[in-house]
Amino acid sequence: MVAALRYLGSACGRARGGFPGACRPASGRPWSQCGGGRSTSTSTSTSLFDIVIVGGGIVGLASARALILRHPALSISVLEKEKDLAIHQTGHNSGVIHSGIYYKPESLKAKLCVQGAALIYEYCNQKGISYKQCGKLIVAVDQEEIPRLQALYERGLQNGVQGLKLIQQEDIKKKEPYCRGLMAIDCPYTGIVDYRQVALSFAQDFQEAGGSVLTRFEVKDIEMAKESPSSSKDAEVENGL
Ligand SMILES: Cc1cc2nc3c(=O)[nH]c(=O)nc-3n(C[C@H](O)[C@H](O)[C@H](O)COP(=O)(O)OP(=O)(O)OC[C@H]3O[C@@H](n4cnc5c(N)ncnc54)[C@H](O)[C@@H]3O)c2cc1C
Repeated sequence: MVAALRYLGSACGRARGGFPGACRPASGRPWSQCGGGRSTSTSTSTSLFDIVIVGGGIVGLASARALILRHPALSISVLEKEKDLAIHQTGHNSGVIHSGIYYKPESLKAKLCVQGAALIYEYCNQKGISYKQCGKLIVAVDQEEIPRLQALYERGLQNGVQGLKLIQQEDIKKKEPYCRGLMAIDCPYTGIVDYRQVALSFAQDFQEAGGSVLTRFEVKDIEMAKESPSSSKDAEVENGL
């Protein structure tokens, strides 16, 4: 994670309309000195960062939060081109907390989805963020679909999805009176949440841990920096030392 972000760390964002500070690598450091933009944090308008993350959606903010909690000594910034955070894909999705039933067993997606669902429920409970664990029915509406439904059920079990059950026609009706089907997978672990709210909470955690969020700060140019020598301080951080 840190290694990947180090390339972003060498990115220099030029705020719309330009900004006053120089945007070139600070001498003796692999990171760029980026100034300008507007900050939603209380940090100054010109800062030197160890890592910058481009994009204040849920992925950028979750990454920033995780990094600063793991490496509190690093100065980290999130650069977001809009005036508000998480207003693109993160603020316009279906809000489903996926259970992880669909992914290929043993794949990273399957593992992360199952683990991520548990973590998001735990996080929402800690922070008092509303969610609804409403569950989901995956329904076979004709005979042909039944073997595929059963295979999906087996896959869900292999992935460790909690509470899965195969249910028949009468139970489908009891759960969802307007739903017709021959057989269904009852997936009670699926839920819904407002992911923008989750993302904003990640931003708050990040800022409380000392991170900076710069909004109206569009990155327009990225330069690759050379790798730090393995004995340098930054390489130690990268290696978790
Ligand atoms: C129709 C649909 C429904 C979905 N439903 C679900 C669901 O129910 N459950 C689920 O878990 N996932 C769902 N997803 C997936 C989920 O929404 C995305 O995986 C997630 O929101 C991606 O977050 P992100 O941070 O990568 O992107 P975004 O939220 O789009 O964030 C990217 C940010 O980067 C900023 N940015 C871009 N370029 C620059 C630049 N040059 N400089 C500075 N900032 C920049 C943008 O302004 C934006 O804020 C859905 C996706 C779609 C398309």
